[in-house]
Amino acid sequence: SVILAIESSCDETSVAICNNGKITANVIANQTIHENYGGVIPELASRVHQQNIVPVIQQALNDARVGKNELDAVAFTRGPGLLGSLLVGVSFAKSFAMALDLPLIAVNHMQAHILAHFIDEPKPKFPFLCLTVSGGHTQVVLVKDYFDMEIVGETLDDAAGEAFDKTAKILKLPYPGGPLIDKYAKEGDPLAFKFPEPQIKDLNFSFSGLKTSILYFIRAQEKKNPDFISEHLNDICASVQHSIVGILLNKLKMAAARYGIKDIAIAGGVSANSGLRLALQKMAEQQHWNVYIPAFQYCTDNAGMIAIAGYHKYQLGDFVGQDVAPLSRMEF
Ligand code: ATP
Ligand code: MG
Ligand code: FE
Repeated sequence: SVILAIESSCDETSVAICNNGKITANVIANQTIHENYGGVIPELASRVHQQNIVPVIQQALNDARVGKNELDAVAFTRGPGLLGSLLVGVSFAKSFAMALDLPLIAVNHMQAHILAHFIDEPKPKFPFLCLTVSGGHTQVVLVKDYFDMEIVGETLDDAAGEAFDKTAKILKLPYPGGPLIDKYAKEGDPLAFKFPEPQIKDLNFSFSGLKTSILYFIRAQEKKNPDFISEHLNDICASVQHSIVGILLNKLKMAAARYGIKDIAIAGGVSANSGLRLALQKMAEQQHWNVYIPAFQYCTDNAGMIAIAGYHKYQLGDFVGQDVAPLSRMEF
């Protein structure tokens, strides 16, 4: 089968082609317009999606060297995400499929982050646990099959990616700040500053307290030294990253013990974080886990993951009609 997939849930316009289970194109148009606003501005995001969608589709078809008439299905992100952004991808997918008389496949963005693990070898075996850490979600998911997933823990407030981005904002770094914190952390001391670990029950997370304690800490230091941030940027970033990674991995360890599972994956934008990747590998050695870490291009938003999810839904004959609508919140 040849499947064209569209991702437009947030601020990346992406189109991928999956040819018999292999991703042969994965074009991602990033939006830089949000950099100076400290977050994604929904109205701007949907307008840029409208501008980008046609050229990105064309580029993906060119990269994969397939013609429109060779396609077997059109997959798209139905949700969760920003409604205005989703609407551009969903409407385009529907009209494109109607014009070419192709079946439509609706994909859940958070399931797709996890299914990115089925693009390249080594592919995890079911059941496995996945820590999905992204800009809007932080979940521990028990993955029993491609589309049989159970959330066993999640954040009660901010997502891990939000903790990175909000810290970056406090440090006056542009949006999204996660990758920049990662970069500065490499040169810093992770034990330079200590932030309290939240005491949250079960496998759930909380990051809003950490954000507040970082904010108060920085304010207090700046009163004594107005150049505190610039003089200690690397150490602050390394310490914040160390705290976030510690919170994430402690819960992952708890989940692995509770379910007796040693096949452990990470997914979502924050799984690109080098501190998390390194710490997970260390923990894997101690705990005798098999860990699965996605390639960088499949961590943050991309249509490759939508295409592979679409491929597995195509095998199941799981199609939707032209009356399908996007969902800003969407369950598994
Ligand atoms: P969701 O998937 O929950 O709907 P999203 O699609 O906006 O949210 P992703 O694209 O999966 O999220 O991930 C974006 C997030 O990942 C941002 O918060 C960004 O800062 C973070 N991120 C990306 N790279 C890194 C990195 N190297 N270190 C830390 N955070 C990172
Ligand atoms: Mg993004
Ligand atoms: Fe995402």
